[in-house]
Amino acid sequence: MPISLKLALIYSIMLSMILVITLSATLIGIHYVLYREAEISITLSADYAEKKANEKDMQSFIHDVEKSSLIPGVVIRITDSGNNIIYDSVPRYISIEKVQHSLELQQQNRRVGDYIRNVLLPDNLKFIDFKHFWIFYTQRTVEKDDNVYTLHFLRTITAEKAFLTELGETIFYAGLVGVLISIICGFLLSRKLLKPLSDITRKVKEIEIQDLNQRIKVQPTHDELEELANTFNLMLERLQKGFEQQRQFVSDASHELRTPATVICGYSDMLARWGKDDPQTADECITAIHSEAINMQRLIEKLLFLARADQKRQVLHKESIDMQMLIADIAKDTQLIAPQHTVSCSVNEDGYIFADPLCIRQMLRIFLDNSIKYTPDGGKIEISSHNDGKQMVVKIADNGIGIDKEEQKKIFERFYRVDTARTKNGVGGTGLGLSIAEWIAKAHDIKIQLESEPDKGTTIILSIPLDRG
Ligand code: ADP
Repeated sequence: MPISLKLALIYSIMLSMILVITLSATLIGIHYVLYREAEISITLSADYAEKKANEKDMQSFIHDVEKSSLIPGVVIRITDSGNNIIYDSVPRYISIEKVQHSLELQQQNRRVGDYIRNVLLPDNLKFIDFKHFWIFYTQRTVEKDDNVYTLHFLRTITAEKAFLTELGETIFYAGLVGVLISIICGFLLSRKLLKPLSDITRKVKEIEIQDLNQRIKVQPTHDELEELANTFNLMLERLQKGFEQQRQFVSDASHELRTPATVICGYSDMLARWGKDDPQTADECITAIHSEAINMQRLIEKLLFLARADQKRQVLHKESIDMQMLIADIAKDTQLIAPQHTVSCSVNEDGYIFADPLCIRQMLRIFLDNSIKYTPDGGKIEISSHNDGKQMVVKIADNGIGIDKEEQKKIFERFYRVDTARTKNGVGGTGLGLSIAEWIAKAHDIKIQLESEPDKGTTIILSIPLDRG
């Protein structure tokens, strides 16, 4: 069932309930007021007449009643102990026998309608239904001169009853029409209000993975639907970005792998043709193939690392790490790897961090390898580690070729490399190192700052939270 119809139905049910409660209350109120007036007039007349009958003898009482009749609309009839009518204010009015008969029937049949009508009335007042004619009936007994007289009081309430029946019917049909109108209007209105929702659904059905640049038209409704459309567009934007990044990653990775693969093919061809007869060529080919295979292996490892990181499958085994030992170790290694540079480690303070040792080592290696790569021979590389009480501040500074301000924003992007012609021997890396370092830093809450000036050098400042455990 469409949500617009559901909403319309819910509102109509609520409206119907409100209508039923308010209209019933109104009807009961009117009912009470009208019947109460009739009830009072007959009861007062009966009480007054009973009092007068007790005070006087029957003849003068009848005389009084004849002269000044009771409250208009109330019929009085007096019978003696032999059920003979000795006075009747309106002789053509319904006979006492019929009234008594009807009362007996009521008692025998015990119909719910009769019960409801009589339950609100005082004990001695009865509501009698003659199909198209309704009356209130009460009686009083007076004892006079060894005679028992019965005073019968009757009051027509046909007009009141008819009015109430008419009113009830009118209210019922008016309510029904109201509910119907509310269902139709509610349906049309909610359909109009929910139109943006069906637009969103239609659009979403149309969007294909190859066509993520489509957007939902946002109606300025300033409500949840506008928010939904905006959120959806933002999600599409993120998806598109992610998808494009993925596509770019695959295409860059293939591109990067093609070069070593082509080189390996070329050299293996050469080896097959001339290598057998010429040991020097064979040697040259094998060295080149080996070097390219190593390059390829490194590249594949980096790609795998990033792929695992993207899929959130990169597992970290965090533990407490003695930074002093780690930095000393890494500085020693760097000196060994780069004998043509001056590697120093003047400040190496004591401190522990909670991290994955392999990852931290890998991250520091990436920065140091870059310093080695992008610092001409004879250059200086300075490693320092300072404990400021909250974090270990590790600095890796070189006086190498530096990075342009414009380029600084981009070097953490995957496969991004600054013009390789500027680098030592024109050889650059894969452009993946800093992306990996950035991921590791993020996974350990490490802040990376980069300070660099072309031809002056680069400093990487890492703020690593201390182990609080
Ligand atoms: P690569 O494998 O190319 O070194 P990275 O992601 O590690 O990839 O670095 C991206 C780019 O940032 C490099 O191509 C290089 O131009 C620049 N870069 C990184 N570190 C330094 C540095 N210490 N000095 C100068 N340039 C650097």
